[in-house]
Amino acid sequence: MNVVPLIDATACSAHGDCEDIAPEIFRLDDIATVIGTGPDELMLAAAQACPSIAIRLVDRDSGRQVYP
Ligand code: SF4
Repeated sequence: MNVVPLIDATACSAHGDCEDIAPEIFRLDDIATVIGTGPDELMLAAAQACPSIAIRLVDRDSGRQVYP
């Protein structure tokens, strides 16, 4: 599977956990933004670490939501 992270800008509380875990994928300014890509496992770890559940992962091919 190849997943794409989407950030809910209204849910992001800007604590930066995602950037701490995967700085090559997420960058925190006022809110987090997606700046790159990486292994699915790393995206999942970052999404699971988000205290606001603001990171949604979707399957690149099917568009199906895989997390949360
Ligand atoms: S971990 Fe979640 S709440 Fe924190 S900056 Fe990243 S997306 Fe925003």
